[in-house]
Amino acid sequence: MTPEPSACLFCKIGNKQIAAPLVYEDEQMFVINDINPQAPLHALVIPKRHISTLNELAAADDALVGAMMRRAAAVAAERGYADRGFRTVFNTNADAGQAVYHIHLHVLGGRGLKWPPG
Ligand code: 5GP
Ligand code: ZN
Repeated sequence: MTPEPSACLFCKIGNKQIAAPLVYEDEQMFVINDINPQAPLHALVIPKRHISTLNELAAADDALVGAMMRRAAAVAAERGYADRGFRTVFNTNADAGQAVYHIHLHVLGGRGLKWPPG
């Protein structure tokens, strides 16, 4: 288990040091709307425990990540995009454009999304 860095934005939102409207919260994760949305639905599913990148995941995190994926699908369904479609993305390190080094699952929906990504 990685420690919670005092400077980590998503740790601070998760432990309420920084106030942010939460779309969903339970013991292990929370969901916020992205501050710079790239689609009509752009939410972030974030574990409360600090994990810097997917490279730091352990087998013990399998249930957590599975629950995050199911939460992403639930958020998309709540917003009406289950059938129409939505995209789930984890960005890891520089080439993928990771900006916040606390893992977060992007959930995007509400417009046609190109593949492959740019
Ligand atoms: P990354 O590039 O690391 O995969 O994505 C980081 C995401 O976090 C970006 O989409 C960015 O807009 C979002 N973000 C950064 N700071 C904040 C914030 O303070 N509040 C919210 N809600 N989203 C943020
Ligand atoms: Zn963190």
